[in-house]
Amino acid sequence: MNILFMGPPGAGKGTQAERIVENFGIPHISTGDAFRLAMKQGTPVGLKAKEYIDQGLLVPDEITNGIVKERLAQDDCKKGFLLDGFPRTLQQAEALDAMLSELGRSIDHVVNLKVDRGLLLARLTGRRICKSCGTTYHVLFNPPKVEGICDKDGGELYQRSDDTEEKVGTRLDEYTSKTEPLLNYYNGKGLLREVDGEKDINIVTADIVSCLKGTL
Ligand code: ADP
Ligand code: ADP
Repeated sequence: MNILFMGPPGAGKGTQAERIVENFGIPHISTGDAFRLAMKQGTPVGLKAKEYIDQGLLVPDEITNGIVKERLAQDDCKKGFLLDGFPRTLQQAEALDAMLSELGRSIDHVVNLKVDRGLLLARLTGRRICKSCGTTYHVLFNPPKVEGICDKDGGELYQRSDDTEEKVGTRLDEYTSKTEPLLNYYNGKGLLREVDGEKDINIVTADIVSCLKGTL
């Protein structure tokens, strides 16, 4: 199954992706995670991406498309994949179509997690992530058992430097102007599945599973 997760920053894409890939046994490809790893390692892509990410802006398409193309060509994607946070522009969506057609593949479902803008600021500023395994928590909505510590591996939780009130505003504006128009693109292809992302995390997971299995 080849799946795309769409939705504004803070909609719950990463949280749900972790659960869905476990359920379907496919790799999770997150361009945001790939950029954060490249920044940590200080690679040329990481240094370039940092200039944009630090401002809350989208990284240019040429850089982003290259990362995805390389990843999709790897063997583990043959059984399917879940792309989280890509594409985010029309140019990226067209590039993805070309990459998949070269590989003789196509998208099965585009899941759009719908969350009202008013909720996103609280979700993003309260987000905390495990330094070692990347599991995502929320200080109020999905807290770990012990404050600041990951339930899974005891790792330390940190806050992303772009999850500040100031940067969130720019990121949401980028989403509205560049990414939201893609919903029409996928709706036109009959691939769009809308899911209410404001419900409890477990209910959202169940709704996504039903929709991927064609019963929602
Ligand atoms: P995205 O990947 O779309 O930016 P995340 O999955 O990182 O979003 O979620 C953003 C924040 O909101 C995290 O702190 C996460 O724990 C929290 N969150 C995710 N889904 C829900 C939900 N259904 N209800 C409440 N909080 C949620
Ligand atoms: P969120 O879902 O919370 O917005 P991500 O982790 O998906 O965050 O992305 C973090 C940042 O990485 C984005 O604000 C953007 O700067 C960059 N980024 C991630 N994916 C893309 C993409 N497909 N195109 C351009 N920039 C991207």
